Amino acid sequence: MVKYSATSLLTCFHTASRVQPPSKRHGWKMSMDVTFLGTGAAYPSPTRGASAVVLRCEGECWLFDCGEGTQTQLMKSQLKAGRITKIFITHLHGDHIFGLPGLLCTISLQSSCTVSRQPIEIFGPVGLRDFIWRTMELSHTELVFPYVVHELVPTADQCPTEALKELAQVHPADGPPKEGRGRTILLDPEEDSYLLVDDEQFVVKAFRLFHRIPAFGFSVMEKKRPGKLNAQKLKDLGVPPGPAYGKLKNGISIVLENGVTISPQEVLKKPVSGRKICILGDCSGVVGDGGVKLCFEADLLIHEATLDDAQMDKAKEHGHSTPWMAATFAKLCHAKRLVLTHFSQRYKPAALAKEGEADSIVELKRQAESVSDRQEVTLAEDFMVISVPMKK
Ligand SMILES: [Zn+2]
Ligand SMILES: [Zn+2]
Repeated sequence: MVKYSATSLLTCFHTASRVQPPSKRHGWKMSMDVTFLGTGAAYPSPTRGASAVVLRCEGECWLFDCGEGTQTQLMKSQLKAGRITKIFITHLHGDHIFGLPGLLCTISLQSSCTVSRQPIEIFGPVGLRDFIWRTMELSHTELVFPYVVHELVPTADQCPTEALKELAQVHPADGPPKEGRGRTILLDPEEDSYLLVDDEQFVVKAFRLFHRIPAFGFSVMEKKRPGKLNAQKLKDLGVPPGPAYGKLKNGISIVLENGVTISPQEVLKKPVSGRKICILGDCSGVVGDGGVKLCFEADLLIHEATLDDAQMDKAKEHGHSTPWMAATFAKLCHAKRLVLTHFSQRYKPAALAKEGEADSIVELKRQAESVSDRQEVTLAEDFMVISVPMKK
């Protein structure tokens, strides 16, 4: 089949992506914040976009879910689509993925076809690779940037039996030219989790959720940051300032002129704990104990609360949660801050709520607070930014 697309014609006129390949990046990413691009359930409305959250670490953006309209939400925010390096999809319901084909096309338009870049890594349940491939194929779109789709294999107990479909691997042998070979990631039964990323600074794992179709939660765990050099100790030991400091800081022992070996442990202060951000997809509960383990003492726990507590039966029937359910999980995990999101569109943002109106979003906050002991409870709104400072 002959393929043509506006993207391939236009892309050469655009400037190169601003994403630096990892080899050029160095050091610990200090600033970290979370931006809510969509906080509504089921469909996007003028007051609440469909699900999308961005975790930004010093300019690099990781997108979690991509509901319809995510790219226009991105344009209204301070974030840039070209900075997205990883995409995590919690489950395959439309309000979490219908924005993905369009966003990928726009990233393609903004990419250069001559400058090489690291592939965008996309993680999500089995079926995601096929969804991307089919939408691109049927719309005759050829993405010019490299990407790779890693699929998580759910277990049968993540959804009602009748909803569990055998997802055939119908991906063509000669996949799209820019798609790299992705991994098929199985549950690690010992850990009850899926290992997605393990780099210099972060480990990202997924855990199982119960929903109408299999859904996942993601835990982004920053590794311990090496401690600072103890200047006084260095002086006392006679280590001359200069390259030796750098070596010790990087965990390498040095030998002084007098033959004495100095190990990093002697001169480094205690390592500093990393930050933990957990983002759950739609769910009426977790499956197994992976969720509680991975969300333990999370600095930020982002949990859905589609309906208020008075409608708990209805929420559960549809595989969703209420503030009480979200706060009970947050309490169990000793999370430090709970952010509720994925609200039914009936709950307008607090600023637009009218006095005495039914379906008050503020009531959802009160319901969560009645359960939590030390957790701060926040109601997510579109374009809300929460920074997660480094630990000292
Ligand atoms: Zn949803
Ligand atoms: Zn859903």
